[in-house]
Amino acid sequence: MEMYQVYVCECCGKESLSHDTIEECEASHMGLTVAEKRAWDALKSAAKHFGSVVSTTNNERTRAAYDNAIKRLISFEQLHGISKN
Ligand SMILES: [Zn+2]
Repeated sequence: MEMYQVYVCECCGKESLSHDTIEECEASHMGLTVAEKRAWDALKSAAKHFGSVVSTTNNERTRAAYDNAIKRLISFEQLHGISKN
């Protein structure tokens, strides 16, 4: 028996065996290039990371790092016209 991993676009449900194809599909729905989509994902995960740091260690330094991560995420989203869902 053989198994295949299928990638699915979270926006339109398109399926492909190629990770790159689906990554391009998801980026295109947001009007982003694949590189920009990866940058956005990195900013989102940084914001999430620093948010969880604040929840365990809440001080001036961790709050500043969290604020900074949020500001970078928001300015990226504004620059690319991405609205929050
Ligand atoms: Zn799609």
